[in-house]
Amino acid sequence: MKNFELWNPTRLVFGENQLENVQKHIPSGVKNILMVFGGGSIKKNGVYDTVKASLKDYNVIDFGGIEPNPRYETVMKAREVALKENVDFILAVGGGSVIDACKFLCVATPYTDGEPWDIITKRLGKVVTEAIPFGTVLTLPATGSEMNSGSVITRSSSKEKLAFGGPLCFPKFSVLDPKVVASLPERQIVNGITDAFTHVLEQYITYPADAPLQDRFAEGILQTLVEIGPKVIHNPNDSTVAGNFMYCCTMALNGLIQQGVPTDWATHMIGHELTALFDIDHARTLAIIGPNLYRVMFNNKKDKLAQYGERVWGITEGTLEEKAQKTIERTVEFFHSMGIKTKISDYTEDYSDVAKTITSRFEERKWMGLGERGDITLEKVEEIVGMSI
Ligand code: NAP
Ligand code: FE
Repeated sequence: MKNFELWNPTRLVFGENQLENVQKHIPSGVKNILMVFGGGSIKKNGVYDTVKASLKDYNVIDFGGIEPNPRYETVMKAREVALKENVDFILAVGGGSVIDACKFLCVATPYTDGEPWDIITKRLGKVVTEAIPFGTVLTLPATGSEMNSGSVITRSSSKEKLAFGGPLCFPKFSVLDPKVVASLPERQIVNGITDAFTHVLEQYITYPADAPLQDRFAEGILQTLVEIGPKVIHNPNDSTVAGNFMYCCTMALNGLIQQGVPTDWATHMIGHELTALFDIDHARTLAIIGPNLYRVMFNNKKDKLAQYGERVWGITEGTLEEKAQKTIERTVEFFHSMGIKTKISDYTEDYSDVAKTITSRFEERKWMGLGERGDITLEKVEEIVGMSI
């Protein structure tokens, strides 16, 4: 196991009817709250009214219209409102997109040293010293953004989708009320299962690291998602199942399972390009890329693939290599069983230069070696994307 330091300051507030108590978690002294949300789902399912009622003692300013894969341009509009209204707390009410937008907003609002986009491209997330504090009310279990300090922002003008983060980007609190799952369309539930599942794989399908507890944390989340995934798809109104689903998604990416072990994240880095170029849902890009990345990087990953296959899917027959191969196929079947398509050509016809486009973008950013060993080279990325068409 590698050395590590585990720090996560987010207060997680889980359970039914917690939406009514959001005011309890707002820090003292706060006056002007910017309530940020997406395209309107919270107005249809009652979340907006419940949260608004609980904040009746504050001056609450609304900012709606954060789009899926939140746009830099939209966050800049929210920044103007935050500055004009003297906002001293931000409340994100939504899924990963709204939460990610608020993480950027919280550091971009006080930033005056240049264009806020620099915070992302010049990796200033870790060094900025000022941020407006924020909390979240999660409405879509998937990303884990409610309990981590990462964020992914898209710039429409350049079709770039880039991640950033830093210690000031942890939410002060996140409210997880399982009732919110009831109104989710099946597409979003399936996306949530796939995103959380892949978050675990990114931190687990690497090389053995003498960390049996982290392995079993990871396998526990995968096993639970396999067990409850179909149940939550078929009955999102069952708040017991919904609650377990929510907790899986949070635990998949709140920093716990990655401590002391190598992590990959190349599936996400390549996947972000597919969203930026073709607007494919984030989770679906992961289901397209992940299995092909395992095929191309098979030698690095076969030990952990076979272990995952044995412990999660019960694949016990054959040599280590055979078990590892079967495990990749079983993972693809799992995605297909939820209706997820795993080829780029299932989503767009405009894919002719995709592999070259992605590798030339990576080259510009000097991303020459990705993955847990830094050996997913541009040639390998080209091969992975080529196999995914
Ligand atoms: P999302 O983009 O936040 O939301 C997808 C859709 O679901 C929206 O149209 C939204 O509608 C709707 N929705 C949300 N809650 C709903 C509810 N309770 N009932 C009905 N509809 C609801 O989806 P997401 O998968 O959570 O977030 C994806 C983004 O997160 C991507 O940009 C991805 O790259 C990023 N991400 C971040 C991290 C991280 O750690 N920070 C990790 C992985 C992915 P409305 O807009 O109308 O509300
Ligand atoms: Fe993700």
